[in-house]
Amino acid sequence: MKPAPFEYRRAGTLDEALTLLAEHAGEAKPLAGGQSLIPAMNFRLARPAALVDLNGVAELAYLRPADGGLRIGAMTRQRTLERNPVVPGAAPLLAEALPFIAHPQIRNRGTLGGSLAHADPAAELPAVMLALAARFEARSRSGERTIDAADFFTGLFATALAPDELLVEIALAPLAPRSGTAFLEVARRHGDYALVGVAAVVTLDARGRCRETRIALLSVGAGPILAVEAARVLAGQTPTDELCRAAADAAATRDIDPPSDIHASAAYRRRLASVLTRRALARAFERARTGDGDSQP
Ligand code: FAD
Repeated sequence: MKPAPFEYRRAGTLDEALTLLAEHAGEAKPLAGGQSLIPAMNFRLARPAALVDLNGVAELAYLRPADGGLRIGAMTRQRTLERNPVVPGAAPLLAEALPFIAHPQIRNRGTLGGSLAHADPAAELPAVMLALAARFEARSRSGERTIDAADFFTGLFATALAPDELLVEIALAPLAPRSGTAFLEVARRHGDYALVGVAAVVTLDARGRCRETRIALLSVGAGPILAVEAARVLAGQTPTDELCRAAADAAATRDIDPPSDIHASAAYRRRLASVLTRRALARAFERARTGDGDSQP
């Protein structure tokens, strides 16, 4: 199919993009890599009156180390992140998750900001950002604001962004000392959207007890889901295989209420969530203990 008619505007600067979005008063959509928006328009699931193309806005494509963490412009391509040598040290969870997204051809065009703004519940990057407690900078003609990842994803393909607002930057704080991370997913074929995925960040205290855990699951609800019940099981405890199993069971039974669809039943998704969470926790704790995956020098 072909898209419904639309006006095409190419922005050269961020200011210009914000002005064009404001002028179209909610009828325009930003175009990033086009890997989700263009198919949706071709199927007429999206019918924006205008597209504001961000591909000429060079000031939105960057990756900068900042205070031990990273600041990433929304138009940074997924493939650029995957190839940047700074990412595995500063954000090992992001580096581990990127190759699971679709195929290299799609990652060549797809952007970090586009994936987050699209908010597909089966996408890897929203879950990664939720687990990392990322902070998103949004800007419109009327000002700018910072949105925590936990407040950004508001439902199925829905975010806290207003129609005239652009996601401009994603800020990742450095991991605390004695932290470890892990990303795991199951898809029917490599490159397919995951049936279930898990992003885990754990931090131990000086005595090896669990100081903080953030586990985000994907493809089990309307958006990425933070497994708070699982984190409660682990809080203050010395991680063992048994404890990881108990936390994983809490994630699968109390944190999520997955849907059944043509790809998998709810019961199968719960089972996957339990197994993947247990494995991700075991891997993340091991990395926290050995220092592998700690972003501190
Ligand atoms: P676009 O498609 O250009 O835009 C997506 C949405 O975000 C649009 O509504 C647009 O208006 C909005 N938007 C874009 N940028 C901004 C911004 N800066 N501020 C505000 N709104 C903005 N993704 C996965 O995560 N996992 C997969 O396994 C996966 N498999 C795929 C397989 C195929 C065959 C295809 C075609 C895509 C797949 N994708 C997958 C999607 C891919 O990762 C996309 O790159 C991503 O979802 C959207 O990024 P984009 O830059 O292409 O955004």
